Amino acid sequence: MRKPIIAGNWKMYKTASQAKEFVEKVNGLVPDAEKLDSVICAPALYLTQLVDAAENSALKIGAQTMHDKGEGAFTGEISPVQLADIGVSYVIIGHSERRQYFNETDETVNAKVKSAFSHQLTPILCVGETDEQREAGQMESIVESQVEKAVEGLTDAQIAELVIAYEPIWAIGTGKTATAEDANEACGIVRKKIVSLYSDETAEKVRIQYGGSVKPANIQELLSMEHIDGALVGGASLETESFVKLLEAGS
Ligand code: 13P
Repeated sequence: MRKPIIAGNWKMYKTASQAKEFVEKVNGLVPDAEKLDSVICAPALYLTQLVDAAENSALKIGAQTMHDKGEGAFTGEISPVQLADIGVSYVIIGHSERRQYFNETDETVNAKVKSAFSHQLTPILCVGETDEQREAGQMESIVESQVEKAVEGLTDAQIAELVIAYEPIWAIGTGKTATAEDANEACGIVRKKIVSLYSDETAEKVRIQYGGSVKPANIQELLSMEHIDGALVGGASLETESFVKLLEAGS
């Protein structure tokens, strides 16, 4: 049985005081970590403060990206060593906004996923197709190719720990959620790809989230699907009330 994982991705929202207030409010309302993994991926600036604020709660703190190198002359970047050192647990890798606006490629995504594992961070690997690709019937080939390239060189044990988020780009921030059936079909394609690259046993362990306009009103149906083990949530993770409702639905 795979443990569900609900992660909020705050993107470039919130001030320091808003971030701290959010975590202090949510802390006591987070479901038992045995039932659900609950994560907030916050702007890098606030990670230290939020790890401290969530110290006595089941809430884990994640980053939204990182460099693949442990250290070096890379002005402005943040390394996996630095994230692990302050107690960050998760890191989103290859979000479509990073691929689209910050030149992330399948190759850099693969390097970062491997590096995250080397530094005891759990990667949340994002894949997903554009509207045009879906219309052109390319969803399956795009998702398969993104998964295959991103996991190249990973061991079975690492795959079993990996979280993959299927986020169709056309559903992000648009209010247009994939139907539960479409989301499940795509998450099933991700799992089948892992079967073909690894084994049935390993693929049964990998957790696959759906992301794209997830909200309290639709999460239950999404989570009821066979291949959907959680959600990666943007907008609805910004308010404590809706985030707590999402966690309740996942637990
Ligand atoms: P929304 O939930 O705002 O559509 O964002 C999804 C997303 O990009 C999470 O990473």
